[in-house]
Amino acid sequence: NRQILLASRPQGEAGLDNFSLVEQDLPGPEELAEGQVLVRNHFLSLDPYMRGRMNDSKSYAAPQPLGAVMLGGTAGEVIASRNPAFQAGDSVVGMGGWQEHFVVDASQRGVLNKVDTRHIPLSAYLGAVGMPGVTAWYGLTQIIRPKAGETVVVSAASGAVGSVVGQLAKARGARAVGLAGGAEKCRYVVEELGFDACIDYRQHPDLASLSQALKAACPDGIDGHFENVGGLILDAVLLRANAFSRVAMCGMISGYNGEPIPLQYPQLILTNRMKVEGFIVSEHMELWPEALKELGGLVATGRLKFRESVAQGLEAAPEAFLGLLKGRNFGKQLVKLV
Ligand code: NDP
Repeated sequence: NRQILLASRPQGEAGLDNFSLVEQDLPGPEELAEGQVLVRNHFLSLDPYMRGRMNDSKSYAAPQPLGAVMLGGTAGEVIASRNPAFQAGDSVVGMGGWQEHFVVDASQRGVLNKVDTRHIPLSAYLGAVGMPGVTAWYGLTQIIRPKAGETVVVSAASGAVGSVVGQLAKARGARAVGLAGGAEKCRYVVEELGFDACIDYRQHPDLASLSQALKAACPDGIDGHFENVGGLILDAVLLRANAFSRVAMCGMISGYNGEPIPLQYPQLILTNRMKVEGFIVSEHMELWPEALKELGGLVATGRLKFRESVAQGLEAAPEAFLGLLKGRNFGKQLVKLV
């Protein structure tokens, strides 16, 4: 069983030397204890939060122990089971980590979940019909709460979370405007995902230019903003925000490698009487069933589109993860093992 461990903690930018690849014996089916399930991972989910866990500092998620398998969501197949709720061949999602197989005591509810792959591909349960999709759903429906005709802006718009935010906003009758890095991502966001506009922020490296681009894309101002990036983008949005607008603070990826993320115009939150709310999706498990029902229905019927960047083989995981932090992914970043 090949595994990727956290070998050292990054100082500043994370690098390949922070990871190591090892091989461990896998327990045979006869060695499973009562309640345990042996799972073969087909897909690993790579997510920005993993960067925070590589540090030994206080965050909302506990640090990843040094020398332990990189933690993360996985989708795969039951190989053997001593748990009556699971059978060999079942498709499952869980927190299997960066490894080819894992053994888990599945007696506790929610540790391992069976998924139906008849109308939804297995990998989508790590993206649009999984944690990133629920994140988008939560920030949009519980914080931004867009009304028909309002304008919703989202950063990292072509990504796993952002792509869902804009499509859900459109489905609720709002105008959706994205920000993404590069012409190809912006074209995809408008032409494939159906956003009303998308700004290539790389073409607008200063605040005046970015805010001007937002003005053009949002002629009626901004009523809701879903923040995935932070920094210049947030300031530019504040400059175009309407009175009583709402900001869902979901992520600040522009600072995940330790860069400072200054905010130049916090006073606009006051003068615009804005609501700015941070959230962690895993703290709202009670809403996941409702969110997943809507997301699953939309994906199964083709009304919610998504895109994946798929790296091949376990050994490709560190490089793909570092690429995710630099915007080299295009859509949900996965690693395919089988
Ligand atoms: P994405 O699929 O959106 O991938 C990350 C994207 O971020 C990149 O593709 C890139 O897009 C953009 N990006 C990276 N670095 C920068 C930078 N320095 N400046 C601007 N953009 C950058 O990832 P996810 O959809 O999985 O996550 C999106 C955000 O949501 C993250 O901030 C993540 O931490 C957050 N999140 C928060 C959760 C919560 O509970 N609060 C749960 C899940 C995710 P581009 O090329 O367009 O710049």
